[in-house]
Amino acid sequence: MKLILATNNDHKRRELEGILADHELLLPTNIGLHFSHEETGTTFHDNALGKAMALYRMVAGEAAAAGAGIIADDSGLSVAALGGRPGIYSARYGAKPGGSDLSDGERNALLLGELEGVADRRAHYTCCMALVLEPDRYYLCQETWHGEIAHAPSEGRHGFGYDPIFTLPEEGLTVSEIAPDRKNRISHRGKAARDLATILAALETEGRLDDGDGSA
Ligand code: IMP
Repeated sequence: MKLILATNNDHKRRELEGILADHELLLPTNIGLHFSHEETGTTFHDNALGKAMALYRMVAGEAAAAGAGIIADDSGLSVAALGGRPGIYSARYGAKPGGSDLSDGERNALLLGELEGVADRRAHYTCCMALVLEPDRYYLCQETWHGEIAHAPSEGRHGFGYDPIFTLPEEGLTVSEIAPDRKNRISHRGKAARDLATILAALETEGRLDDGDGSA
């Protein structure tokens, strides 16, 4: 089915493409829309659902979105020694009120600074994915990926965000150093997306994908 992603992050679209390969993934810009949404929730699932509902309302009535489902995710990094910070604020970590966001490199340096001399390096990524088919018909899948925060950024070229400092302890590699398809198999987003793919396949098998009024 046609799925419109509530994001402008092409990295996320590419990560999802392999997993939701049976579906046509579109960004709002692909149907001529500029989507921006302020996250006001206090949990990953509030934010994922809020974002998906906001895009659902925005595309209602757009011919290019007829019959489409909306997918939104909210994700972030929670560091044990920081009481779970930055968590849902991961994308805005380090930004001054009213100021501009930091670059990924600046954010990673700030986090490494906060953890200087801290022995407990445990951290996990979380991803909540929301699939909205109608305002009263939606599915949420939330998953985690556990690892540790490195002592310095790695030189790896893959991934984005906190990947250069997020280490898989059993391998001594950061996520920037592992291939994208491997990341997809084991990551928080990969697992949540596969759960959604399973739900979509079950709905399709049962003929329940067109249960609604098709007015997405
Ligand atoms: P949002 O889900 O777009 O609100 O932002 C999540 C933020 O968490 C991103 O901007 C990254 O900083 C971080 N993040 C989430 N997932 C990942 C990942 O797979 N790798 C690296 N950083 C991530």
